Amino acid sequence: INIPHKKITSICCIGAGYVGGPTCAVIAQKNPHVKVTIVDLNAGRIAAWNSDNLPIYEPGLDEVVKTARGRNLFFSTDVDAGILEADLIFVSVNTPTKIKGIGAGFAADLGYVESATRKIAQVAKSNKIVVEKSTVPCRTAQSMRHILEANAPPNIQFDILSNPEFLAEGTAISDLFYPDRVLIGSLDTESGRSAAASLADIYAGWVPRDQIITMNLWSSELSKLAANAILAQRISSINALSAICEATGADIDEVSYACGLDSRIGPKFLKASVGFGGSCFQKDILNLVYLSESLHLPEVATYWKQVVEMNEYQKRRFTNRVISCLFNTLTGKKIAVFGFAFKKDTGDTRESPAITLVNYFREEKAYISIYDPKVEESQVWMDLTEPGVVDETEAVKRQVSIAANPYEAASGADAIVICTEWNDFRDTVLDYEKIYEGMKKPAFIFDGRLILDAKKVEKIGFKVETIGRPRST
Ligand code: NAD
Repeated sequence: INIPHKKITSICCIGAGYVGGPTCAVIAQKNPHVKVTIVDLNAGRIAAWNSDNLPIYEPGLDEVVKTARGRNLFFSTDVDAGILEADLIFVSVNTPTKIKGIGAGFAADLGYVESATRKIAQVAKSNKIVVEKSTVPCRTAQSMRHILEANAPPNIQFDILSNPEFLAEGTAISDLFYPDRVLIGSLDTESGRSAAASLADIYAGWVPRDQIITMNLWSSELSKLAANAILAQRISSINALSAICEATGADIDEVSYACGLDSRIGPKFLKASVGFGGSCFQKDILNLVYLSESLHLPEVATYWKQVVEMNEYQKRRFTNRVISCLFNTLTGKKIAVFGFAFKKDTGDTRESPAITLVNYFREEKAYISIYDPKVEESQVWMDLTEPGVVDETEAVKRQVSIAANPYEAASGADAIVICTEWNDFRDTVLDYEKIYEGMKKPAFIFDGRLILDAKKVEKIGFKVETIGRPRST
């Protein structure tokens, strides 16, 4: 980008979460002459980033942090100092779905973005480039500008950029090393274009220039919501087809394969499953629904809402299949839940389908034993407990236990339900013969992630029920 622009020497990232932490650690590793300080209000999280036990699990993250930490990468709770020193500030705070009031359940709660922006306005003593890294509704940059202009000294210039993050948890480091594209949205003004060029230089430390795309600010904001909505839509489309497969004898893996060979469709993101989870897909689609409604586009809102509704239906449908195969009752039965994270290679459980399934099994009065290789036990209790309900955790613990390994989880169980596609659960890794011996008979496996060779496991004696294939029992 050949226009005069400032060379960035100091970066601050507000928010040391799943996005801010890995993204800015990679930026620091690849730009050794730029000082990168990641700040957060959560002192426990910052202490963990400064320890050998990082607060999030991502393959390859430890090495990146170890190379740069203490050299040009710093983690701190001193938000003011981070802002003061930086030329460029990433805002990478959480943007959850609003849970109370008008728009509850749909709109994004931008309170964290607002308070981070107010803090920048209050503390800044020199010009800053402020970068939206969080996923935000279209035109959030305008609201941020109003806060900055109304609260900061008039001699300070702020340029606001949109730079949405496309990393996926579980593959964050390789996604950051080899991104499909880096988007930078700016106002079409001289200073907007110059700020975009400054940020582009940071990414050019390792990303080929032709993959760094600059565009209009609002397009960039909307592109992130659009990309997540389209990805989730593919999953809901294939899951909707899985229901037809189960009723007709078609096999969803074969249908996905056939469709994916069409170069206009492509093979990725066509895997049927018990449903998508994670902190982003549902939130971002609901955000799009809310945006459409507030723009008086009810048909558009209904269209996108259906993607989320199909996802909920898939979880209910799968649960009903478990119940009906187990003689229409789960009362007193033991269900082993394999995997609690929303996908493999992460310890993140936000919106994990496993939470919904375990809650359905609890309603049906089953006993549930959960095994996940990365999810902390305390996280499971938090996810299964209604906030504010006294003694709820004790009630949950009467029905739910955490196992140290899959063999313990399945011991004495009537059924295994695979909720996460961890490689650890594959029939090439786990000893399913040993598991079978320890289970009640008939022993069922419900493969909610299509990771097993059903025929192979059936030979052991299991009854295997798989999403997208007709019932075998
Ligand atoms: P997160 O909850 O893991 O991290 C956000 C952090 O911001 C928290 O540690 C919180 O303490 C901190 N924070 C909030 N307000 C603050 C303030 N005023 N000052 C300092 N720290 C503050 O969230 P995340 O998963 O990293 O997501 C961040 C954003 O990135 C969201 O908008 C999300 O939609 C988006 N995103 C997430 C992913 C993903 O895979 N998790 C991928 C792409 C985009």
